[in-house]
Amino acid sequence: MTSNNEKSFLLQRILQKALQITEWFKDQNFKSYLKQDKSPVTLADYASQIYIISKLRKYFPDDSIIAEEKYIDTFDPDAEKLIKKCFKSLNIDLNLDFKDIINYSGVVSDYQWTIDPIDGTLGYQQGLSYAIGIGYMKSSDLLFSAIGVPHYNELGNAFFIAEKGRGAKISYGDKRFNSISVSKKDNLQQARICISLHYNKPWVFDFVKEAGITNSLQIDSMLKFCMIADGSADLYIKPMNMHNSFSWDYLPGTLLVKEAGGKVTDFNTKDVEFVNERCVITSPGIISSNGLLHNNALNLLKQIKIS
Ligand SMILES: [Mg+2]
Repeated sequence: MTSNNEKSFLLQRILQKALQITEWFKDQNFKSYLKQDKSPVTLADYASQIYIISKLRKYFPDDSIIAEEKYIDTFDPDAEKLIKKCFKSLNIDLNLDFKDIINYSGVVSDYQWTIDPIDGTLGYQQGLSYAIGIGYMKSSDLLFSAIGVPHYNELGNAFFIAEKGRGAKISYGDKRFNSISVSKKDNLQQARICISLHYNKPWVFDFVKEAGITNSLQIDSMLKFCMIADGSADLYIKPMNMHNSFSWDYLPGTLLVKEAGGKVTDFNTKDVEFVNERCVITSPGIISSNGLLHNNALNLLKQIKIS
């Protein structure tokens, strides 16, 4: 598969099905597990990852895959049964060993896919926003990204696609992709800022107050990058710690915002560098904006006590 248009449609189809999987699980009574870092993982995360990996493995057998979830031995016996039931009811024909496929990392290659089967699992569990993200890079060079967002607006599920040098676009599940671009707002006080709902720090609120921003939106997941990319929001500030920040979380949104004409940097104006599964930054957070607000926001951040 070489055509990038084909890749857009393929990734959209994969995300469309993955969203059906995660939405199917919402109606089920199922267990969630705590990972080593104490963050939650649900059967919906696993089912979504199994499906996405099975497709990427089929279409890109020579590439490497970096996926968020690892198989855990504490699965209860009904877990696999429920995942199979989901696949059956959605006409997904997968006869694979779940453990093998969850842990599948492809072949060693400069071409690497990242998969976040549910970004914003905490929000997902509470019926709030979440997203599913797929990224693609060649030796840290971001090439492609695809993000699926359920119930994005009155048009339904949205699929955001970005391709290096060819812009960012949105589709609502049909064959049409429309270009998107960041907002033109250049007044910080009038900006609409996105901030994290569950993974935030008090200094972000200090920033919002100092900037005189009154329009802020607290939501989970990489949906915040999507909103910067299509101009629904103007600024996003995220506390980050290199030890728990991963490529699957940030790669898709970073490329999307850049291709939509915006910026994503750390507080020293350096690009986030993606090295295998790690995000490398030189400050305790990142900032994403429409570009016009970037320097003003960074200058104000220098006056905030960040701890
Ligand atoms: Mg996740």
